[in-house]
Amino acid sequence: LRRNPGETEFHQAVREVLESIGPVLGKHPEYAESKIIERICEPERQIIFRVPWEDDQGEVHINRGFRVEFNSALGPYKGGLRFHPSVYLGIVKFLGFEQIFKNSLTGLPIGGGKGGSDFDPKGRSQREIMRFCQSFMTELYRHIGEYTDVPAGDIGVGGREVGYLFGQYKRITNRYESGVITGKGLSYGGAQVRTEATGYGCAFFVEEMLKARGTSFDGKRVVVSGSGNVAIYTTEKVQQLGGTVVACSDSSGYVVDEKGIDLDLLKQVKEVERLRVDVYAKRRGGDARFVAGRSIWEVPCEVAMPSATQNELTGRDAETLVRNGCVAVGEGANMPTMPEGIRVFREAGVAFGLGKAANAGGVATSALEMQQNASRDSWSFEFSERRLQEIMRDIHARCLKTADEYGMPGDYVAGANIDGFKRVADAMLSLGLI
Ligand code: NDP
Repeated sequence: LRRNPGETEFHQAVREVLESIGPVLGKHPEYAESKIIERICEPERQIIFRVPWEDDQGEVHINRGFRVEFNSALGPYKGGLRFHPSVYLGIVKFLGFEQIFKNSLTGLPIGGGKGGSDFDPKGRSQREIMRFCQSFMTELYRHIGEYTDVPAGDIGVGGREVGYLFGQYKRITNRYESGVITGKGLSYGGAQVRTEATGYGCAFFVEEMLKARGTSFDGKRVVVSGSGNVAIYTTEKVQQLGGTVVACSDSSGYVVDEKGIDLDLLKQVKEVERLRVDVYAKRRGGDARFVAGRSIWEVPCEVAMPSATQNELTGRDAETLVRNGCVAVGEGANMPTMPEGIRVFREAGVAFGLGKAANAGGVATSALEMQQNASRDSWSFEFSERRLQEIMRDIHARCLKTADEYGMPGDYVAGANIDGFKRVADAMLSLGLI
């Protein structure tokens, strides 16, 4: 705490992992002897830089850019870029720290990192977004590469931004290095299913949790918060698996639509026109209604899938969900449930799929994009989706197996944290004191 003052979210993420791995440290004194915990909590490298850009009126703006290269024991640093006004070092470090264990859990050869900027893309024109991305990459390019650090998208960074970032990287370096960034468009080295991967993967993970309890999505009422990349493709897959998504949201409020979210309309409003969710409710008509300034978790459901941002689900929200009969939670977002909320879910016996495990499908599919780029190949949608589903099933099975081994059956938090930690820690031991 003293070493990293004010980095609240980073402290929260570290505490959650440390609380889970006590039993591992007891069994493996060699981790403590070589100070694995202290080393793993200290990023290998942190880069903070100035991003100057000019808006459409000619006014100059200065934003701050970040890239935290946290751990490369398992492979090149891998993790997204977030453009949101709330971004500061504490957010980037929490995300980078989580990413180490998530990436480890996928079983793929990727280390952990994260980056972004306090730039607010809301209300900015296409040209302003492009100029910002170009300026951001004009510094970032010297730190990244196929074998060093491979960024991707996150909040505020989707296919459009990845295109501008990659374009500027290519221009500056004069290298068509496809594997330097993932989440690319299909026409220039992107991979099938990457856009859908985090949401689809989260739905597959929850399906496995439900199956382990002898049930399924079929006929279940589901609430998915957010209405960005993760929320939209979570909704799509849940609907395909037989569930009914009855609510979604953005930072202005939530929409309830008892008939089930009309996905084509939601995509049109959010992906194409980039408008707010109240527009969805207006266009949908009927019983669909928009509610401002309240928590989406008051909408009764059997499955909750928080897919917007960190700390969006409080202890009180968790109590409401449990009271309303919620049996499973799958975190599409990173650290969306506050620690009190996690406690409520665990005590109530709710199947709780934490983000590190449940939303790992995005980065796993990014690693598959790197694999296709390296072999100059491209796989079909069906094949890629099957790979994603296998990876999510494998993560689910490993969480349960590890939780069992450490005497905490059914505890996905313990299973994911321990399994993710062990693989990184063992690699760090093998690599010596670096
Ligand atoms: P998007 O930018 O596509 O969408 C984010 C959504 O969350 C929007 O609906 C946004 O609403 C809402 N949101 C963001 N910040 C806040 C806030 N402070 N309060 C309320 N609502 C908010 O991002 P993604 O869908 O890509 O990311 C969502 C979450 O999933 C993040 O936690 C991210 O780290 C995580 N994640 C994403 C992965 C990916 O592949 N994209 C991979 C793994 C995890 P508004 O437009 O009003 O801000």
